[in-house]
Parts: sequence; structure tokens; C-alpha cells
Amino acid sequence: MINVADHLTKLRQQLAQACTRAGRPADSVRLLAVSKTQAPAAIAALAAAGQTAFGENYLQEADSKIAAAEALAGTPLEWHFIGPLQSNKTAGVARRFDWAHGIERLKIAQRLSAQRPDARPPLEVCVQVNVSGEISKSGCAPAQAAALCAAVAALPKLRLRGLMCIPEALDNAAAARPAFARLRQLFEQIRAAGAVDPTQFDTLSMGMSGDYEVAIEEGATLVRIGSALFGPRVYGSPK
Ligand SMILES: *Cc1c(COP(=O)(O)O)cnc(C)c1O
Repeated sequence: MINVADHLTKLRQQLAQACTRAGRPADSVRLLAVSKTQAPAAIAALAAAGQTAFGENYLQEADSKIAAAEALAGTPLEWHFIGPLQSNKTAGVARRFDWAHGIERLKIAQRLSAQRPDARPPLEVCVQVNVSGEISKSGCAPAQAAALCAAVAALPKLRLRGLMCIPEALDNAAAARPAFARLRQLFEQIRAAGAVDPTQFDTLSMGMSGDYEVAIEEGATLVRIGSALFGPRVYGSPK
């Protein structure tokens, strides 16, 4: 097995360097370790090295993995659902996760709020925006983002934390820059417009293994990184 703790040390240095190059404090970007398809033991190894936030895309996989990883780690971890959110997923996400990044419709947000167990704190959420234009199918239209944010911010069991995007996979990281810049611009407009709580609306979830440096230059506060941390994903392996 690759040494994920070594990858984490190196990645933390690279994140800090990217912040410095962008003229930002070295601790201004949070790392979300994207652990989809990865074994509980690898998650526990990262947890032992101080990583606390993990991202999963598949509800079925996450179900058993969350319990297994926390048992191995011996501590609760913070779980972010970053996969597409359809109606049939909301109950499971509301029950098991701490964050959901892919809110693109009010109906889904309303279900998450209604299904969030009373005993748990509000679910932290980001509104996903389609900043890549027509080629991408996920995320709300940029022109609808402000209204969706205002409606989501009013739901009792959700806490609106910011915006998220997944730019189209392009052949070089620099090609994602306009999408990241657009998301940041929207983020600042929505913060300034007053319909969201600016003390909570503090998250720009953008940047993955191939383009996190560009995302940090454009203002990302949370990067979602899988393969640069765990190595390549192997799909279809036994869970
Ligand atoms: C898989 C995934 C990531 C991580 O991708 P890598 O290229 O492996 O870093 C980040 N965000 C989302 C939404 C994903 O589905």
C-alpha cells in the first residue's frame, strides 16, 4: 500500500506554497480528502496523521465505510457528501453526513432540511453552480445562484456555507481558471447582497488534484483532493 501519510505531508506543503504564491495566509485553504473507492484503512492512516475531513460520492459505499473508518481511527471524522444529490439520496445524506456540496435545486435542499435528524446540528451545505457553460449538466445556472442561496439560507436545518463548482475536465489546469474566477465573483456578489449570513458564508469549494493550484490562486478556501493523496482510484474493487 502506498504511504498516504507521506502524500499528506507533501500535499500540505504544496497547499501552503500555493497560498504563499497567491499572497494568502498558508492556512487559508482547507483540505478535503476525497476517499471514494478507498479502503477504511487508508482513511484511518490519514486520520492518524491529522486529517479530519473526508469526501464521499456514493451513498451506498459510504454507509458501511464511515463506521469502519471511524472504528479504525478511534475517533469521529467529518464527512462531506460531494456526489450528485437526487431525491432518493437525501435521507441518507441528512442522516450520516456533516456537509453536502452539491445543492443545485431548492427541492433537494428542502428535503435535506426536513430529513436532518433533530439531534444533529444543521447540515453544512454549498450551492453548486454551473460555471462551465452549456457543456456541464450539474449545478444551477449562475443567474439563479443568488436566489437559490437566499432560499437555502432560510431553511432551519441547513447552514449555507458557500459555493461549489466542478469545471469541465479540460486538458490543462489553466483552462479551469475562468470558471474558478466566475465562481469567486458570484460568491462575493452574493455575500455583499445581504441575503446570506456573511459570518457563515465563507466557503469556496473548488479545485481537485489536477487544478488545485489554479483554484487557490482564484480564491478557493476548500480543495477536494483524491488521487493526489491516495493514488489512482481503482473502481470495482471489493469494498
Ligand atoms: C472525485 C472527486 C474529486 C477528487 O478528484 P481527484 O481528481 O481525484 O482529486 C473532487 N470533487 C468531486 C466532486 C469528485 O467527484
